[in-house]
Amino acid sequence: MINNAADWKRLLSEVIAGERGTVTLHALLIISATTVRPDSPLLRHEQGHVEQANELGAAYLPTYIRQRGEVSGALQAIGIPGTDRNVYKLHPMEVDANRRASLSLLWHGNATP
Ligand SMILES: [Zn+2]
Repeated sequence: MINNAADWKRLLSEVIAGERGTVTLHALLIISATTVRPDSPLLRHEQGHVEQANELGAAYLPTYIRQRGEVSGALQAIGIPGTDRNVYKLHPMEVDANRRASLSLLWHGNATP
């Protein structure tokens, strides 16, 4: 769960260390530890997040974080571990980014938890 400066530092450290693939932090800021090809599904997915960031403005990251907590809580309430992987696949903004990219709704690439 990302909810303070230390969590952001951890997230950025994970990307830099290659433990986390690619993250869109803002409409003008995608960070990645991998090579993102221009014609790749990953870039199309991240462009879906860019559209979200443009639409939500300053609410983009707070909305993402809040929904992440909601998905984690819902999974745990029905006995499914709220792991990063489980939450990521079902996060509404991830599913929406996949929809915008014309990918399978549960697409999650190969380098993102
Ligand atoms: Zn995503």
